[in-house]
Amino acid sequence: MKQLSKNAMQLPESGTIKILDLAKTLEREGKKVIHLDVGEPQFDTPEEIKQEAVRSIIDGNTKYTSSRGIFELREAIIRNYNQQYNLDLSPAKNIIITPGAKFAVYAAILSIISKEDHVALLTPSWVTYWAPITFISGKAIDVNVMLNEDDFEEKLKSSINRKTKLLIYNSPNNPTGKVLTKKELKLIHDLSVDYDFFVLADEIYGFLTYNQKFYSILEMSDIFDRLIIINGFSKKYAMTGWRIGYAIGPENLINAMVKFQQAATTCPTSFVQYGTLAVFKYNDILSSKITKMKEIFKKNRDLVIDELSKIPNIRFKVPDGAFYIFPDISMIEKNSYDFVMKLLKAKYVSITPGVFFGDGGEGHVRISFATSKENIIEGINRIKEFIKELYS
Ligand code: PLP
Repeated sequence: MKQLSKNAMQLPESGTIKILDLAKTLEREGKKVIHLDVGEPQFDTPEEIKQEAVRSIIDGNTKYTSSRGIFELREAIIRNYNQQYNLDLSPAKNIIITPGAKFAVYAAILSIISKEDHVALLTPSWVTYWAPITFISGKAIDVNVMLNEDDFEEKLKSSINRKTKLLIYNSPNNPTGKVLTKKELKLIHDLSVDYDFFVLADEIYGFLTYNQKFYSILEMSDIFDRLIIINGFSKKYAMTGWRIGYAIGPENLINAMVKFQQAATTCPTSFVQYGTLAVFKYNDILSSKITKMKEIFKKNRDLVIDELSKIPNIRFKVPDGAFYIFPDISMIEKNSYDFVMKLLKAKYVSITPGVFFGDGGEGHVRISFATSKENIIEGINRIKEFIKELYS
């Protein structure tokens, strides 16, 4: 029998599956598993968005849409970007609406790189970036700069060369919570001009910073011809299950991504796109709801910091953005995967091993604080008990 695709076979199995399977087995056995693993807001989608989507179904918006996404939504998003960054982008040329930001990432990477092209990935970082690079047999170069500020410039400069075709970063960062400074973004900007590479900026957590201001590389718009901005509604509007995101970029790159979308999915779900228009229609009401959600994320972050500080031998950086913390557990256990599996089996707390997030991740674990106050207190208490019982 003939083999399956080589490209497909070289895709690594999702590292989280084993952990999720074990958590599900424990839950079937009646154990109460505390999930500090998932990266999604604990809130429900705002009512205005739900109602708008329901209305649009009743109105008959149930057919294929343009493969770029509905014009009204593209127009509303682009208007905001043009105002905010003083740009002159076109809703007809510079944006594609996708089923989730994840698909935008996938289509962008596959539209930019070919086999053997080098991709500089600022790590630790969201696991998904590796899959399309591996699929196309590109070469991911992990640049471990998202935990330590001190050697950002030195490490980045030494990892970039003429072969670099694309640089990917996510700020605020999943899993470390680091928010890139204007100076760091300027360095990325300057290198992309000097070495002629594309930049993929995943700004999905741009709305959620704590004490630090979020800067977009779009403020340096003279590199727009080699820039792709990824964003979406999943995290900000608690819409993870709706599958709606977008990418903003130069016309030729967006056109290539549209071809992917046409071939793979035609378009994002029609009434999800219409429902998302509520974000712009009810901007004032929703902005105040988002402000409240952000206040809760901030309280959760402060709570996690307080609780983790009570555990000896755990060190962590206070996250400046997003809803994750990435403590260093290496003084207790060097193998983060072992730590996570043992913790789940012993105390029914599910977190994510740092090793999944690339270079610089091992010896750490990711804890999501997008959950209830009770879960945070109970979950971290159980982690504390686990360490005391197993490691001291
Ligand atoms: N980018 C980052 C950095 C993420 O952490 C996630 C989700 O966890 C996404 C993109 C995907 O978002 P979406 O639900 O819109 O596909």
